[in-house]
Amino acid sequence: MIRVGVGTDKHRLSGGRKMILGGVHVEAIVGPVGHSDGDAVAHAIIDALLGAAAQGDIGAHFPDTDPRWKGADSLALLKAAVELLRSQGWRPINVDCSIHLERPQLKDLKEAMARRLAAAMGLPRECVSIKAKTGEALDSVGRGEAVEAFAVALIEKSD
Ligand code: MG
Repeated sequence: MIRVGVGTDKHRLSGGRKMILGGVHVEAIVGPVGHSDGDAVAHAIIDALLGAAAQGDIGAHFPDTDPRWKGADSLALLKAAVELLRSQGWRPINVDCSIHLERPQLKDLKEAMARRLAAAMGLPRECVSIKAKTGEALDSVGRGEAVEAFAVALIEKSD
């Protein structure tokens, strides 16, 4: 059995927050606002994986009202989501993600993100793809007010 899932996430950017994307620290004067570390990349991938297994969404499993997830390392949440899937016999095959961020450029960090995310999911590096683009100075991403991520995940289970 093979299933595909899609996930998206968007976080407002504000001063006084560290920017962590794909589990990697990004040098920036703003960072994503959120109950956890605000890692929109990890969050989009979690939703894609949960969606593929028809297991609801990140808010159902890691509610932002739960003090356990305050300031949480989102890679730990990703790991937990994969463990949930594995406990039901699902195995992630591959993940593809696009990040929309106006600045800074992420081109030199994509490899590190893919490695960190792959390790968190227990996947080979070549099964994780990270792409980045800007918002072309349009909308909230383009104005530097937000970071957004889009992900798809493929999972399989043997009969
Ligand atoms: Mg989020």
